[in-house]
Amino acid sequence: MKLTEHLSNSTRPIISFEVLPPNKGKSIDSLYETLDPLMEFKPSFVNVTYHRAEQVYKKRPDNTFERVEIRKRPGTVGICASIMHKYNVEAIPHLICGGFSKEETENALIDLHYLGIKNVLALRGDAAANEKFFVPHPQGHRYAEDLVKQIISLNNGVYMEDEILDGVKTDFCIGVAGYPEKHMESPNIDVDVEFLKRKIELGANYVTCQMFFKNQHFYNYIETCRKHGINVPILPGLKPISSTKQLSVIPRVFNVEIPVELYNEITKCKNEKAIEQVGTEWLLEQCRDLLRNNCPVLHFYTLTKPGMIYNVLKQLL
Ligand code: FAD
Repeated sequence: MKLTEHLSNSTRPIISFEVLPPNKGKSIDSLYETLDPLMEFKPSFVNVTYHRAEQVYKKRPDNTFERVEIRKRPGTVGICASIMHKYNVEAIPHLICGGFSKEETENALIDLHYLGIKNVLALRGDAAANEKFFVPHPQGHRYAEDLVKQIISLNNGVYMEDEILDGVKTDFCIGVAGYPEKHMESPNIDVDVEFLKRKIELGANYVTCQMFFKNQHFYNYIETCRKHGINVPILPGLKPISSTKQLSVIPRVFNVEIPVELYNEITKCKNEKAIEQVGTEWLLEQCRDLLRNNCPVLHFYTLTKPGMIYNVLKQLL
């Protein structure tokens, strides 16, 4: 079912999780170990992230180096199929522009359509690890809005090859990314939201937000989006803090504020268990506040910490 239909049909808040494909060479069992306990909460969706290939230098026997491309976390499409098969839950693959030609994207969309996938999250992707700025694939897309356009074309039965005249129409419900504290490359929130609006006007159906640790950022963002005429559902992104390292990594990598109260509580902790306790309580309070404010969805970034999210949901539901 499309996410938007789920939202309109549901009488209570829906739960969803985001997972990462395992590193290449690892078993899919590690992903099942993350999801198994969380299935108790009957999620409506599981999002599966997409990861672009990286360029690395490998030493040859003659001591020279060769540049090779490796994809550390392949398998998004296969993982979506496994999740749907094993848990009977909708999987939402993330699609990125970075590293992909339009043709590769079209072929991936055809695969997803054959699999019965109803929803996709259309993203630009970040700059490659060895690049300062995002550089599009020579035959690919520069912005997520271009990817949205391509998906809409396919939904209208228009394929890249002109010879396909009566192409089957896909029917993807399209999500796009939103940033309550603005995207790191944006000069200000209004410019960022105007670009978000373009994605919606092109046909995107809902927005999934970057994580935030202060709900007021999310509420302000919804208000700003509505003022700019964006009226689609906006889903909150929720993540537990589980280490002191994250206090500096999260702001640097995601341009997200760690509120002073949370920072102070975490830095007082003497061990990992105490940090997880603080992180769990903070997330629980965020969720309670979102539900009090009639938020229709709780979307969790699970990564490798399902236990904290499990404890939050056990106390919440
Ligand atoms: P865009 O919408 O293209 O925006 C990128 C920047 O360009 C913004 O600053 C925007 O304001 C600006 N902009 C947009 N359109 C235009 C235009 N036409 N002209 C000029 N400027 C413009 N990354 C992954 O690699 N894999 C994932 O699975 C993944 N999942 C994510 C899930 C969520 C919920 C979120 C919030 C992010 C995710 N990301 C993922 C990260 C995302 O790819 C990065 O944040 C990326 O830098 C921006 O992606 P976007 O889709 O928002 O890009």
